[in-house]
Amino acid sequence: MLIDTYGRVATDLRVSLTDRCNLRCTYCMPEEGLQWLGRSDLLSDDEIVRLVRVAVTRLGITEVRFTGGEPLIRPGLVGIVERCAALEPRPRMSVTTNGLGLARIATALGAAGLDRVNVSLDTLRPEVFRALTRRDRHADVISGLRAAHEAGLSPVKINAVLMPGLNEDEAPELLAWAIQRGYELRFIEQMPLDAQHGWKRDGMITAGEILDSLGTRFRLAPEGERVRGSAPAERWIVDGGPHRVGVIASVTRPFCHACDRTRLTADGQVRTCLFAREETDLRGALRSGASDEEIATMWKLAMWGKRAGSGLDDPSFLQPDRPMSAIGG
Ligand code: SAM
Ligand code: SF4
Repeated sequence: MLIDTYGRVATDLRVSLTDRCNLRCTYCMPEEGLQWLGRSDLLSDDEIVRLVRVAVTRLGITEVRFTGGEPLIRPGLVGIVERCAALEPRPRMSVTTNGLGLARIATALGAAGLDRVNVSLDTLRPEVFRALTRRDRHADVISGLRAAHEAGLSPVKINAVLMPGLNEDEAPELLAWAIQRGYELRFIEQMPLDAQHGWKRDGMITAGEILDSLGTRFRLAPEGERVRGSAPAERWIVDGGPHRVGVIASVTRPFCHACDRTRLTADGQVRTCLFAREETDLRGALRSGASDEEIATMWKLAMWGKRAGSGLDDPSFLQPDRPMSAIGG
């Protein structure tokens, strides 16, 4: 098991497949100038499958989420999913994606064994999408969502980040739209994980503000702590049900006490938290001939050192050097 000194057990693995992306969301990365990992720095497909195998067969991981950067631009994605689906015990698998290219690949991902997708969509307005992502690809995301739904990758979840002066007024509209199409919407508070270090606490839209905004159009009732478990999203029942809306309030209502995650960067470093400042180099171990057992031991030791919380409220908090896109969001 991947247990830490606070008794938390990690069963959910986030694997970043690349730090690169075909969008440039303002809360994530600058327009240009970001240094990418080199090709030989990245784990190969075989190395990724081996590490997932170690995690699933020796360390109790039951959920695997592929992310990035943009995971759909990794050429071997379908093969990686297929090989991980053949593992015993078979992990549940999902992808977090910006949705570009999903229309083309959703059916193949489903056939390979993918269970679910989370698609990021912050706005219903193409011109706001262009300002937020610096690319004119809104229609591609919408068709990607539809294709995922049709391919049975359900429930299709949508992640939305609200930004002041851009889409902060769109929460009710996004929820009505998602409910109508059978998508499950979750809002994520903007976190200090952008590559350009531009995040400001007093410049972010809080969970409280998001809920107030939704409350102008919908009746929300909390789903409750017991249902939430270790899920990061607090969920609300909308207008008496059956629909739900989630809010991931990592900044104003952190859920670190119930965290069940471990992370693997695209260059093979274990991170215990998005905000961790330490990493454990599994790629080096893999490439110098370590056995599965040795890798599992390194991973366990890394998780044993997991901190109690993100440290965001600590006056000495320092934003990690790696941005979200390079950690795997
Ligand atoms: N490219 C894929 C995507 O956008 O879904 C996967 C990687 S992205 C880093 C994963 C999630 O992190 C997305 O839902 C994105 O909106 C969110 N994200 C990125 N930067 C963030 C930030 N600074 N604060 C909160 N969420 C962020
Ligand atoms: Fe790319 Fe996702 Fe970051 Fe947007 S949030 S720039 S889509 S990695």
